Amino acid sequence: LICISKYISIDGWKSNICFSAAHIIPEYEKCGRLHGHTYAVHIKIFGETDEKGIITDFSIIKRKLREIVNDLDHKVLIPRLSRLIKIRRKSDSIELEMLGSRYVFPEKDCELLPINSTSAENLAEYILNLFVEKCPMKEEIEEIHIGVDEGYGQGSMIQKKMK
Ligand SMILES: [Zn+2]
Repeated sequence: LICISKYISIDGWKSNICFSAAHIIPEYEKCGRLHGHTYAVHIKIFGETDEKGIITDFSIIKRKLREIVNDLDHKVLIPRLSRLIKIRRKSDSIELEMLGSRYVFPEKDCELLPINSTSAENLAEYILNLFVEKCPMKEEIEEIHIGVDEGYGQGSMIQKKMK
């Protein structure tokens, strides 16, 4: 049995699927202070080629990923499910309290995410789930990998089998 696996690959840095955002990770001393990164999102899509010889259309994939990252761009990323960060809404502000520090941000500057920490690993999982929801894949697609780089040269990757 010869097993051949084909995929398409998009590099977020080269294709400008990037965003800049601020976050706090109270679990780590250094990341426990508010700071920011420029992130890039990469994707690999594995599957069978169609009669035209393609797995899927690059431009649609890039457009969907850009829509997702645009919602995160220039925002304060807040992990809605964190056990360490207490989140309060006050009219149009969001107040965060953790380990003796308190931050108040305008609500429009924040993006509350359904994750427990804004690590690159969790951001990759969030983006993968959102991508699958927003961009239904044809049956021939077998697997999707999403990578999130936190700055150039380090990142996290997650993969989901589609069948
Ligand atoms: Zn960080």
